Amino acid sequence: MEDHQKYLSSDELLEKIFYYMSRLFEEKELSATLFLLTDLGKTLVNSDRASFWFWDKRKHEAWTLAALGIDKITIPDNTGLVGAAMKGNEILIVNNPYNDMRFNPDVDKDSGYFTKSILTMPVTDSEGKVIGAYQAVNKINTDGTDGKFTEEDVKRLSLATAFCGKSLESYVLQNEAMEDPLTGLRNRRGMHAYYERRIATVADKTSIIMCDIDHFKRVNDTYGHNAGDEVLKHVANTLLNSIGINDGAFRWGGEEFILLLSKKELDESAEFAESLRQKIEESVITFEGTDIKITMSFGVSEINPELTTEENVEGVDAKLYYAKEHGRNRVIKEIPAEG
Ligand code: GH3
Ligand code: MG
Ligand code: MG
Repeated sequence: MEDHQKYLSSDELLEKIFYYMSRLFEEKELSATLFLLTDLGKTLVNSDRASFWFWDKRKHEAWTLAALGIDKITIPDNTGLVGAAMKGNEILIVNNPYNDMRFNPDVDKDSGYFTKSILTMPVTDSEGKVIGAYQAVNKINTDGTDGKFTEEDVKRLSLATAFCGKSLESYVLQNEAMEDPLTGLRNRRGMHAYYERRIATVADKTSIIMCDIDHFKRVNDTYGHNAGDEVLKHVANTLLNSIGINDGAFRWGGEEFILLLSKKELDESAEFAESLRQKIEESVITFEGTDIKITMSFGVSEINPELTTEENVEGVDAKLYYAKEHGRNRVIKEIPAEG
């Protein structure tokens, strides 16, 4: 905490920038990249604290993706200086926050911190749309006393915010490519990415459940395609609401889903699949006044780390196929031996 008491000379500044840039190019993880950028911004303007906010327009809130000196915070749309800067797409220099209506003094009251100056800059994507904000709090002078943010700080910070925007944008785009727009679940590509990161590298047991809606074609034929879409959303939500924080749910294909469950033995996973089967069987989907009921078939396996993703999927797919062939609306964890 002591080294930022000193304002950097141009040479030192350049050296810092090169240092951060070289680390940034090696960094593949978004959160680590944003921490580096947040740290860079803090160094450039010599502030006590810094945070980078992501604007989640779908959830109508903003949250700190990377915060140095503070815990992760979530705020509703349009609140505080962060909300104002993002909404108006404008840079806000506030050197007297307690006289500014947009500043929420409760933040200090709760944390015991004393906010004296704030610089908030919107972060935009390549089309100029606001996707987040960068905030530096409490400017520190060369001699260590409290300072005020100036246009010079804005100039310096814009370097870090430009990089933040680029990193965040590529992250958002990458995520969109892995998401199924209808259900919001991750798609097949998302499953492979998840598998590589969470399964292939972890020694813990993992289970895979593959499930498919029974006679889904009939739902479409009877109630129409839009009703079918509603059913798919219902199934996706049921799966998502049933799994744990370390599990993944994916839309594998049309009406076929995959669950990856961490730290679950085969029997435990089969019981879990059975509970899902019952939940689906018992639920009623109402579409434009009509009640629709469905059932699903399930295959369950433990992931064999010796095999490839494809081979593991093939194995559980065979069990799902067996469930379909033997009456549907059931869970198969083992294909019985012939005879
Ligand atoms: P089974 O019990 O053997 O699985 O029979 P099924 O009718 O569910 O399976 P089939 O593979 O014959 O039909 C799947 C249907 O799912 C056909 C296709 O039109 C429909 N489908 C795939 N994707 C979507 C989608 O996004 N929305 C809707 N409404 N239907 C979809
Ligand atoms: Mg089906
Ligand atoms: Mg199918």
